[in-house]
Amino acid sequence: MRALQYREFGARPEVVEIERPVPGAGEVLVRMTASGACHSDEFIMSTPADQYVFAPLPLTLGHEGAGEVAELGPGTTGVEVGDSVLVYGPWGCGVCHSCAQGAENNCVDGISAPGIHRPGTMAEYMIVDDVRHLVPLGDLDPIPSVSLTDAALTPYHAIKPSLPALIPGTTALVIGVGGLGHVGVQLLKALTQATVIAVDINPASITHALELGADHAFASDTAAAERVRELTGGRGADVVFDFVGAEPTAALAQSTVAIAGQIVMVGVSTGAVTVGYLTVPFDVSVRVVNWGSRAELIEVVELARRGAIEIAVEEFAMDSAPEAYERLHAGTIRGRAVVVP
Ligand code: NAD
Ligand code: ZN
Repeated sequence: MRALQYREFGARPEVVEIERPVPGAGEVLVRMTASGACHSDEFIMSTPADQYVFAPLPLTLGHEGAGEVAELGPGTTGVEVGDSVLVYGPWGCGVCHSCAQGAENNCVDGISAPGIHRPGTMAEYMIVDDVRHLVPLGDLDPIPSVSLTDAALTPYHAIKPSLPALIPGTTALVIGVGGLGHVGVQLLKALTQATVIAVDINPASITHALELGADHAFASDTAAAERVRELTGGRGADVVFDFVGAEPTAALAQSTVAIAGQIVMVGVSTGAVTVGYLTVPFDVSVRVVNWGSRAELIEVVELARRGAIEIAVEEFAMDSAPEAYERLHAGTIRGRAVVVP
C-alpha cells in the first residue's frame, strides 16, 4: 500500500510503498477514505533530531483519519466491515481517571497517537487499536468530515468550557484563522452571542474569517492590540484563543485579555503567557489544551451533521500529499488540506 512518510530528519515527506498491516487481537484494519494535514505534523518535521520524542523514523504521518472498516482482528466486536468511521486520535491507556471520562487526550500516561507516536492516517490502510477509538460517521462525506477529528475537535475542546463566559456583550478573540482557527470562528458564531474578532498575518485568512461570520477581522500586527481595545470600549477580549502559540501571538493574547478574562493556548510553539500579579489583569485565567475527548468528538460530529460547522477543504491525491505539506508550510492552505488515498 502507499503511505506518506517522514523518513529522514529535516527532509520533506515522501510517498512510499509499504506493507499493508494485519490487525491483531481486538484491532481494526481501516481502509482510509480521507486524511487531514495538521500544522502539528509540521512541528514534528521541524523538531531537531536531538529533541525528537515522536515515533522512530520512518513515520507514516497523519493524525486526522476517516475510513471504512476493512477487516476485524481476532475477537474484535462492535463495528462491522464496511462501516464508515472517524478515527479518534489521542489514544490513552483507557483506564485512568481521565480516560474513564473519555478524556483520553489527558491520559495520565500520555497519549499514543497515530501519525505522531505510531503509524498514521496518511496511508491506504491503518490499524486502529480498539473500537472505542472509532466514531461512526454514517452518511456524512468523509472528505469534509475528516478534520472534525482535530481541526474541529480541538477548538471545540478549547471553547466549550468558556461558553458560560461568552454571554451577549462579550468578545472572543481568535488568533490564527487556519485549519483550527477557521473552525473556531464558526464554533463561536454557532454556540455564542459574543462578538468574534479574528486576526491573522495572512490577508486571505482575514477575508476567510469575515466570510465565516467573524464580526471583525484584521492583521495580527503591532496595531492589533490597540484595535481590539478600541472595538471593546477599552475592556479587551473576554476570551482569547491563541491558535498559533508563537511569541508574538502569546504577547497579543496577554495584552488584549480583559479583567477576569480567559486565555486559551492551543498552538504548539514556543510562545508563552507570563502569569503574575504584575503581568496580567486581575482574575485572568489561562488554560492550555491538547486535542479533545471522545465525547466531544461525538458532539462536533453532531454539529457538522446539523450544518452548524463546515470545514473548508483543499483536496490532494496521495501522490500530491507532499505538495499539501509544502502548501501548509508556506501558509497558503485555505482551511484544511485533506489527502484522499
Ligand atoms: P494552520 O497552518 O492551518 O493555521 C495557522 C494560521 O495561523 C494560519 O492562518 C497563519 O497565517 C496564522 N498565523 C501564523 N502566524 C501568525 C501570527 N504571528 N499571528 C496571527 N496569525 C498567524 O495550522 P493549524 O493546523 O490550524 O494549527 C494551528 C496550531 O495549533 C499549530 O501550532 C498546531 O501545531 C496547533 N495544534 C494544536 C493542537 C492542540 O491540541 N493543542 C491540535 C492541533 C493543532
Ligand atoms: Zn493536529
